[in-house]
Amino acid sequence: MLQQADGHGSGSDAHGGEALREGLQEFLGGEASLQQLDDLTKVNPVTLETVLRCLQARYMADTFYTNAGCTLVALNPFKPVPQLYSPELMREYHAASQPQTLKPHIFTVGEQTYRNVRSLIEPVNQSIVVSGESGAGKTWTSRCLMKFYAMVAASPTSWESHKVAERIEQRILNSNPIMEAFGNACTLRNNNSSRFGKFIQLQLNGAQQMTGAAVQTYLLEKTRVACQAPSERNFHIFYQIYKGARADERVQWRLPEGAAFSWLPHPERTLEEDCFEVTREAMLHLGIDAPTQNNIFQALAGLLHLGNTRFADSGNEAQPCPLVDDAQCQGSVGTSALLLGLPEDHLLETLRIRTIRAGRDQQVFRKPCSQAECDTRRDCLAKLVYARLFDWLVSVINSSICATPDSWTTFIGLLDVYGFESFPNNSLEQLCINYANEKLQQHFVAHYLRAQQEEYAVEGLAWSFVSYQDNQPCLDLIEGSPVSICSLLNEECRLNRPSSAAQLQTRIESALTGRPRLGRDRLSPEPSFTVLHYAGPVRYSTAGLVEKNKDPVPLELTRLLQQSQDPLLKVLFPADPEEKSQEEPSGQNRAPVLTVVSKFKASLEQLLQVLHSTTPHYIRCIKPNSQAQVQIFHREEVLSQLEACGLVETIHISAAGFPIRVSHRNFLERYKLLRRLRPATTPGPHGPCPAGGQSGEGTHWPVICSPSSPSTYLDHLRARAWASEMSN
Ligand code: ADP
Ligand code: MG
Repeated sequence: MLQQADGHGSGSDAHGGEALREGLQEFLGGEASLQQLDDLTKVNPVTLETVLRCLQARYMADTFYTNAGCTLVALNPFKPVPQLYSPELMREYHAASQPQTLKPHIFTVGEQTYRNVRSLIEPVNQSIVVSGESGAGKTWTSRCLMKFYAMVAASPTSWESHKVAERIEQRILNSNPIMEAFGNACTLRNNNSSRFGKFIQLQLNGAQQMTGAAVQTYLLEKTRVACQAPSERNFHIFYQIYKGARADERVQWRLPEGAAFSWLPHPERTLEEDCFEVTREAMLHLGIDAPTQNNIFQALAGLLHLGNTRFADSGNEAQPCPLVDDAQCQGSVGTSALLLGLPEDHLLETLRIRTIRAGRDQQVFRKPCSQAECDTRRDCLAKLVYARLFDWLVSVINSSICATPDSWTTFIGLLDVYGFESFPNNSLEQLCINYANEKLQQHFVAHYLRAQQEEYAVEGLAWSFVSYQDNQPCLDLIEGSPVSICSLLNEECRLNRPSSAAQLQTRIESALTGRPRLGRDRLSPEPSFTVLHYAGPVRYSTAGLVEKNKDPVPLELTRLLQQSQDPLLKVLFPADPEEKSQEEPSGQNRAPVLTVVSKFKASLEQLLQVLHSTTPHYIRCIKPNSQAQVQIFHREEVLSQLEACGLVETIHISAAGFPIRVSHRNFLERYKLLRRLRPATTPGPHGPCPAGGQSGEGTHWPVICSPSSPSTYLDHLRARAWASEMSN
């Protein structure tokens, strides 16, 4: 008979019910119990089809978490399931003597991670890598884990210190609504899509209490400020101020109700995320006082007005482009200048006229910009302000929540980066995002799939190698040396030569010809190249790629902003210590370009270094359907996500492998009492254990235990050690 796993809840709660029983009985012939199917390694045989059917049956019965060996699979419920994240449940997982015996949950991962840090023998930093497609539930999961740690790692002591602890935990949690207001937006795939990557390091002291946190962000999609894809929206914060400003603020920020802004598409949509009060409150908690908030929102309103500034063609190269003569554009430059603390004429001139030095004598020329150039400069100004504001907010958040170096010893890192993306039209943003996902997949492959199997071979264990998709060839194509997509893009930026989209396509194809992960879409309507990513092929358009990679910021724009009288902009754009020339330097004097891909590559490498220094845990979020519908399980869509993350290979290796691995030194340290009791070569269920002291330092003894009862044998050893102590 099928039985409900004990742990928490009962009957048809969030974790189970009649439908699940029936679903599973139907496909497994009623042989397996629910508890066994909590782990996909127990599905027999392990194939994409059986895994899919098991997940489907569980999903239809409102069971959203399933173990898959070393990974936890999290299906997005697309509906509130409060009982699944209640404080009581957090306490239950925290208090459990063996949380892994409770039902699969992100709290099991959270608790195990927490206990690993607490290991007295060798405390080691931990990380939880949350991955999945956009809208699969990564940010939700990270947020819940932060709440979990805020509860279990809270300082319990005196009232005074409790207040302090509460403040720091609350502050850490308060960083979420701020970062989401400024960094998330409503996209086609997710109403609250993170448009930046985030790694948060939760810092713990020797008593495993959370004393602070540090946030690192990656590649904010700043182009969204000035350009939103059809049916998508700008960052939430713009809608928050537009909808939530008080009457006096509307006057001050020039945001009358019903005003139309070109950079504010779809304001009519009602989203939970448009709640301004929550953001303000969180900012206050983090020490951003009301006047500073006012400066921030005023500057954002200034950007909205800047977006209404449009230029017409002057019809004469020698003449600056006139402003479009319509109601929306009228007065927008003046209002924008006022809100950004800039002189109106200076703003207009900077948008319309370039100053360049040329020739041997470095003569200064003032050249009116074309209509398209004016638009580019306007957008660039907005992106510059917004990106600096975002970075500044992150630094303010960090200074408010980061613990002093002597008040923490270990950390748990939570990684929530944008998921793999493939649109009809993909550009540099998608290339970077997918590159990051390749890197993370490689980390997983290297850490788990490859390393584990290689270790078995080294330890001389009987093992038949499970093949998996190694994405190294794809990474070589994107970032490898000497020639790769990144190096070619950087080369184009360095040479600074005019390059059409077709020329770039040809250069990439000829330089990288024969690379196994480079494809070509012959039906592509535009110049492009295709990368065969581990998660599927993506066609990248070559149009504008080099320019985006350069991400040029005309010096005059920075200079203009440095002259702002607005207190916030003065902080964001401090004046240079020594006044340099006001004009753009000519070609030879240009500083070497630090391109978008090189900056991104460097930050990714730093992240990977941190991850490598930790014990990683993986949560794979899966989106059961792309319409965010409750109780809809699209097999095809889930299948492609399962394939993309190599879940079946992971299950195979986990099912056949050894679930507990302890270094020889740690094992000896922990169970040395038993050396007196046991002969050195006592066989475990999987063959002989290496004799105590014979394995080299750091060698892992793939200890013990049958996969079905990972901890039983250890418990047995512990009991014997205890008995021996008692008898002495
Ligand atoms: P991602 O960060 O992967 O793009 P999100 O975490 O923003 O996706 O999740 C998208 C949406 O799905 C959320 O806004 C929320 O409505 C819903 N969601 C995700 N996970 C859960 C969950 N565990 N319970 C309820 N709703 C969820
Ligand atoms: Mg997200």
